[in-house]
Amino acid sequence: METKIYTIDKAHIDMDKIKAAADILARGGLVAFPTETVYGLGGDAMDARASEKIYAAKGRPSDNPLIVHIADMKALEEIAVHVPESAYALAERFWPGPLTMILDKSDRVPSETTGGLSTVAVRMPSHPIALELIRASGTYVAAPSANTSGRPSPTMASHVIEDMDGRIEAIIDGGKVGIGIESTIIDLTCEPPMILRPGYITREMLLEVLDEVDVDQAILTENTDKNFKPKAPGMKYRHYAPKGELTIVEGTPDHVAAVINALTKQAQSQGLLTAVIAAGETASRYDCPNVFTIGTRSSEESIAANLYDVLRKMDDLHMDVIYSESYAGGGLGQAIMNRLLKAAGHKVIDADTGRHQHTLIENGRAKARS
Ligand code: AMP
Ligand code: MG
Repeated sequence: METKIYTIDKAHIDMDKIKAAADILARGGLVAFPTETVYGLGGDAMDARASEKIYAAKGRPSDNPLIVHIADMKALEEIAVHVPESAYALAERFWPGPLTMILDKSDRVPSETTGGLSTVAVRMPSHPIALELIRASGTYVAAPSANTSGRPSPTMASHVIEDMDGRIEAIIDGGKVGIGIESTIIDLTCEPPMILRPGYITREMLLEVLDEVDVDQAILTENTDKNFKPKAPGMKYRHYAPKGELTIVEGTPDHVAAVINALTKQAQSQGLLTAVIAAGETASRYDCPNVFTIGTRSSEESIAANLYDVLRKMDDLHMDVIYSESYAGGGLGQAIMNRLLKAAGHKVIDADTGRHQHTLIENGRAKARS
């Protein structure tokens, strides 16, 4: 199949291109499009065959449900039932935006879209191209991240082309996305509501609207138990892992630089291609020839926005061994470290003590498991 590329400027949306892409969705085809979080791989959420095509294009296990994207509140009533007051309060505050809510599904949503679950994940994205596309499609759009399953989520159209060219009908190139990590997922079918995946909307922000918010332990810990079942089925799969071996080194900056410099030297002497992922503030401390600046510590947003692009570069450049600084810290720290720890298979070195450990994160800080 030849994949069409529609380049659209989000500040001046070409409605003819939107219409062409929306027609593909309405006919049951797949279109990748930008959202404010990452690029989505869209298909008609109300068409079981379109959902099946999404799983096939991504190579995604079919028990890993899709998020349904909507453009107006009326849609909520059509795809969900028993919608609690809290959903309206959260929508009022955070929609359109990077928050996904889990609700009981209505009979109209095919079980293929929800991976066989009786609940449905719903989000109203804020990206203007996404909103126009959903509106023009005349339906609701199931859209997981537009990467091959197991690769980092795409944050620019070139990433989508790498993974999806020839597998889907069209890709809308709307430039680099703003946030760069996937939406926060909150389950509203339980009491108190529970965060299943951390994202741009933090627990503190949710607590401005809700009295109580729990956090699924699956996002804090590594899971070695085969029978373990996180509430968001997707969280059990190993995501975002670069092909090279990634280790996070945390501690005081001087110790981190000393440890990473010693380890990269050792790896290079064995003929291994070696990389360092560092913040702008500390990048010049590393002797390694391949230092990748991920952003600046003065803006966690910049680190989130570049994270997946940097992880993809590790594969593009065939890096064998990769050391990354830790970016635990403020509000977005938990969401960033959730992704980075997964990418590293939870391997962390504490540069202050020299200890190698598998960690969990708490309040955004990596913490040794006792
Ligand atoms: P992605 O579409 O790639 O952003 O991944 C969607 C995430 O949402 C996966 O981790 C899914 O397991 C999760 N998800 C989607 N629908 C549900 C649902 N009904 N209940 C719990 N988690 C869900
Ligand atoms: Mg994904």
